[in-house]
Amino acid sequence: MTIEWQNFYADRTRHMKGSQIRQYFALTERPEVISFAGGFPGNEFFPSDDISAALAKLVKEESKLALQYTSTEGHFELRNYLAGKMNSNGASINADHVIITDGSQQGIDLLSRVLINSGEAVLVEEPAYIGGMGAIKSYGGVPVGIPMDSNGPIPAKMEVIINDQIRKGNRPKVFYTVPNFQNPTGITTSAERRRAVLDLAYRYNIIIIEDDPYGELCYEGSVPESYMSIDKKEQVIYLGSYSKILIPGIRIGWMAGPRQLIEKVSLAKQTTNLCSSSLGQQLAFRLSDEGYVDRHVEKLIGLYRNKREIMLKAMKQYFPTDIEYSKPRGGFFVWVKFPAYYPPSKDILEYALQHNVAYVHGEGFYSNSIGGSHGARFSFSQPTAEQISIGIATLGKILHEVKANLTLKAVGQ
Ligand code: PMP
Repeated sequence: MTIEWQNFYADRTRHMKGSQIRQYFALTERPEVISFAGGFPGNEFFPSDDISAALAKLVKEESKLALQYTSTEGHFELRNYLAGKMNSNGASINADHVIITDGSQQGIDLLSRVLINSGEAVLVEEPAYIGGMGAIKSYGGVPVGIPMDSNGPIPAKMEVIINDQIRKGNRPKVFYTVPNFQNPTGITTSAERRRAVLDLAYRYNIIIIEDDPYGELCYEGSVPESYMSIDKKEQVIYLGSYSKILIPGIRIGWMAGPRQLIEKVSLAKQTTNLCSSSLGQQLAFRLSDEGYVDRHVEKLIGLYRNKREIMLKAMKQYFPTDIEYSKPRGGFFVWVKFPAYYPPSKDILEYALQHNVAYVHGEGFYSNSIGGSHGARFSFSQPTAEQISIGIATLGKILHEVKANLTLKAVGQ
């Protein structure tokens, strides 16, 4: 008799569901497919030789620090460095306000575990980062989307939604946001919006989780001050990451927030992994402290800016003119909106896949799963410049065919 695993799972696992886009990832990984789906950093931008040399030096000269377990909060030197980095951007914290995490994803997971009860409403952007909503949902949190425009979440709508939830007896405690070059839309929340959202957070007693893995990858102008920098009441928790500014392979991120909260998170982290990789932390610290990471980010900005230009130029050249797309000033993502009279982006994706081009269709990014049917996320970070041009040109051809078919249908043929 085979085991019915379903009967063995703890009740809490019923909230753990794979996202609907996962089925597509297998397809997008076929070598012949040009994929705009991934959202991973460009492989060719990994500084392998420098990392290899730094690791060899670390293991030889700092083996005790780099190879031994470390504290749950993480290496003091790295936390101290990160507090200094955040203070130079307007925060006012010290090493005790920082805990190292296994990427910012673990930060979202730990915060969900510490802050969210099953059944509670959690405010998110609409559309929102799928991995963020996944963590929230895995603890029974119920994401409630706040509509956005090109300046970020819309405060007036946010207030209506908060009051609506309060009326339903489900007062939201947390707002999860990616204010810089958001995943999936590329939108950056303006300074005025940040102030207005923070005001709402103060008025309604809501904590802001500010997830910022892309802020340093700014290709045009600068980003507004972080929520953490403008916060006066310790109501903001900031998540940072080395994944996009160095490499995701070390799985090193950080959380900064009020000391009391960091202590609670540390207790939750203890039973999860005891500590984050010492080797990764030492590597991140050495390379940051000697200024290498900052110099690397400068290079990345030039390289990703180039990929962004190529994608936006190709979209302008090849896409039918009734298709809208965001023009992100940084990060990895362009959000495409097909007009409502087009087929759903999921159906267009099926067609695109037959021509070996992939993107992520929109529904998965929506808290209610019904919005986003005509949205799509395109990432320019991983494909090469040449693949971007070819992939967007191919898709442009497909979209013109789709559009021509619509016209044929409209005239009854
Ligand atoms: N937040 C956002 C908005 C992301 O896009 C990602 C990665 N795709 C993460 C968090 C997680 O990144 P990591 O755990 O590698 O830091």
